Amino acid sequence: MTVQDTAEIIDGNAIAAKIRGGLKARVDKLVAAAGWRPTLAVIRVGEDPASIVYVGRKVRACEEAGIDSRQYVFPEDVSQAEVIATVRELSSAPDVHGILVQLPLPEHIALAPVLGAISVEKDVDGFHLYNVGGLVIGDTVFPPCTPHGVMLLLDAAGVDVSGKNAVVVGASNIVGKPMALMLMQREATVSICHIKTRDLAQYTILADILILAAGCPNLVVGPMVKRGAVVVDVGINRLPDGRLVGDCDFDTVKERASLLTPVPGGVGPMTVTMLLANTVKSAERHFQREKGQAETVGEPEPA
Ligand code: NAP
Repeated sequence: MTVQDTAEIIDGNAIAAKIRGGLKARVDKLVAAAGWRPTLAVIRVGEDPASIVYVGRKVRACEEAGIDSRQYVFPEDVSQAEVIATVRELSSAPDVHGILVQLPLPEHIALAPVLGAISVEKDVDGFHLYNVGGLVIGDTVFPPCTPHGVMLLLDAAGVDVSGKNAVVVGASNIVGKPMALMLMQREATVSICHIKTRDLAQYTILADILILAAGCPNLVVGPMVKRGAVVVDVGINRLPDGRLVGDCDFDTVKERASLLTPVPGGVGPMTVTMLLANTVKSAERHFQREKGQAETVGEPEPA
């Protein structure tokens, strides 16, 4: 890591485009060998505008990579039982290789039973407890997309994680916690900060690698960042004036960091790319199983 005047900006769009090119080639090869396309089923409940945008992006990215996608859209007041029944049906459908339930779900639908109904073989978001457990022991089949995308960004930027002080701000199940596990797996010394952390700056200032995933604009400003640190901003926040920003004050942090991801154009494109990667991987595993050359993941799903 070199110390310089202002941070080099990590171009998530460019790194994602390169990875997507490789995925497209894998899809073409699979289609030629198997005669079918990888297929992702996306379940969306209600009309949350952000969810509609995110699902639209995922569907478009699938198209570009040659992956088929199917959308299952339910009204806001759909019952939990109906959603779970659809997830179960898709879990046993032989022509579906990935299942994604767009979050958040309405309050009357409990998340755990819905995620638990996803076949571990099709859990391309990596949220099923089996895959979460795999992550804890460093051996997951489907790593959760956002933190996995961050790890690939760090790799692409030439950041050596081993032995570094890494600080993750945010401790959610979908970003902060798996992020911390992945960094620990790669031999970083990891601190996890959350809403109850006292004096956030005393942690952030020690970070060689600082990952921000709190969802709070301007949470971290330049003086809180160690000179030469690598800063990855996962946060996506819409300001009242309509601008999209991350969790750090970009201009002041840029003066301290050696590498910094922008918002938008940093982690976001990588998250979608990792969803494609997991879907392609799942389809390849399905093909191998058809040929009798691969084991299934974990226990058979309950009927
Ligand atoms: P979340 O479920 O709301 O979790 C936020 C986490 O940050 C929680 O652990 C919370 O602590 C912690 N936190 C909140 N305010 C804090 C503060 N002032 N100081 C320290 N910690 C604080 O959100 P999420 O789903 O993890 O997402 C985090 C951010 O990343 C959001 O902006 C989201 O839009 C964005 N995101 C981006 C992508 C992408 O592809 N770029 C993907 C997913 C999410 P407690 O646990 O103590 O409440």
